[in-house]
Amino acid sequence: MTIELQATTEPQTHKAFHVAIVGGGLCGLVCAVYLVRAGIKMDVFESASKFGEVGAGIWLGPNALRALDEMGLKDAIVAHADGAVPALAPFTFVSAEQGHQLIHSYQLNAEDETLGIHRAACLEALAELLDPSAIHFNKRCTYISQENSSRPVIHFKDGTSFAADVVIGTDGIKSMVRQAISGETGRLGVRFTGTVAYRALFHLDDVRRMGIQADLSCNPHCFVGAAKHIITVPIKGGKILNVVIFYTDRSLLGSVEMPPNEWVTPASKEEVLENFSDCGPDVKKLLSLIETCNKWCIHAIDPPLDYFVKGQVALAGDSAHGMCPHLGSGFGQGIEDALLLGRLLRHPSIDSFNVQEALRVYDRVRRPRANMVLTRSAWAGEVYESLPCKTLHSSLAVLWEPVWRHDLQEHLATAMDMLRVLDGTRLVEQFT
Ligand SMILES: Cc1cc2nc3c(=O)[nH]c(=O)nc-3n(C[C@H](O)[C@H](O)[C@H](O)COP(=O)(O)OP(=O)(O)OC[C@H]3O[C@@H](n4cnc5c(N)ncnc54)[C@H](O)[C@@H]3O)c2cc1C
Repeated sequence: MTIELQATTEPQTHKAFHVAIVGGGLCGLVCAVYLVRAGIKMDVFESASKFGEVGAGIWLGPNALRALDEMGLKDAIVAHADGAVPALAPFTFVSAEQGHQLIHSYQLNAEDETLGIHRAACLEALAELLDPSAIHFNKRCTYISQENSSRPVIHFKDGTSFAADVVIGTDGIKSMVRQAISGETGRLGVRFTGTVAYRALFHLDDVRRMGIQADLSCNPHCFVGAAKHIITVPIKGGKILNVVIFYTDRSLLGSVEMPPNEWVTPASKEEVLENFSDCGPDVKKLLSLIETCNKWCIHAIDPPLDYFVKGQVALAGDSAHGMCPHLGSGFGQGIEDALLLGRLLRHPSIDSFNVQEALRVYDRVRRPRANMVLTRSAWAGEVYESLPCKTLHSSLAVLWEPVWRHDLQEHLATAMDMLRVLDGTRLVEQFT
């Protein structure tokens, strides 16, 4: 039986259209909060019974913090960072091998502040800003129907459905919305990268007691080695160290078809120590702190999508550009998606009749940049794990350049210029 759900968000806007967000992860909630702030009616549909994030930290680069600031959300997130504040903290690259020599310290400009925060705290900061009546849990999207000129309808596993003027799919890398709009249900369009990531959180007091040479309590570090690297980022005001331990078997790249429910599995401390047995003492001391951990099989969308939008359905966050985590930029790209979507949808010239045009501009402006970051993230992983390599230093020196040195204002202005020529279907002709 199909039940038409009632929209619940308080109308706060002159906009006569309604947005449905599928997926209440970090990117879905940034979209939701910003759309509400932009005066747009929206509802969030999340498959889980409550909001949840993995017990790990997340690092936000300068471009992500600038986009949050532009949306007026940075302060709310920093307020939940448990004492951490955006700071100039150069990423320090050291060898994972004996001697642990300094390889590179990333040069920062005055505006290159970054922030490490616990994921759950970040999610909570965003959830608090939403009207609970606009959030619908236990709503697993199974498909989307979109007849030529009518509103897209989201169908849920429980037999209910919801029609909206715009659907934003923020349902993560295994996105059902992506499958629905590509017409390839059952085909994820992702590849296993051959890299697994073990994740752990350590108390920094325990790390200090291990007598590790590098001071891991202030700056993010990357221990680089052949086919392996370890990223450490302090969170919770320097009380906790977020550690991601990457191990790669390149012969497995793309070769393994892994059922989605096997991407994350428990791993033993012995397995990690075995994989890093050729590393120097600091790495071994750090890894000895592991008690339990999970292993993530790192997947990325491959090839990058040639659409983020179909009709009145748009993808954002990992559903659009799920990428390797090697530049710590996946969420940052989702934040940039949310900012541009909000700006376009709130534009005075956009209404329920031409909302597709705003989405087309979103696709045209956001897709090249997000796909560039996706491709560069895979390259960064190869750089870290290419020891010994003569070009390692020069590659590290420019690692984040195009990601961080992004002119957000110019990007937004380009999109607004595209909307300015909006005149019925002319926009479509001009930009396709
Ligand atoms: C090891 C690792 C480290 C990382 N480190 C960083 C970092 O430091 N900085 C950074 O910027 N990024 C980092 N990333 C990337 C970042 O985690 C992701 O880009 C980000 O979490 C994506 O958020 P999302 O909301 O798009 O997707 P998700 O977090 O996957 O959320 C999707 C949501 O949709 C829901 N959902 C799924 N299917 C359905 C459905 N059919 N119907 C309804 N709801 C559904 C899910 O329950 C979930 O709540 C890292 C990733 C990994 C793997």
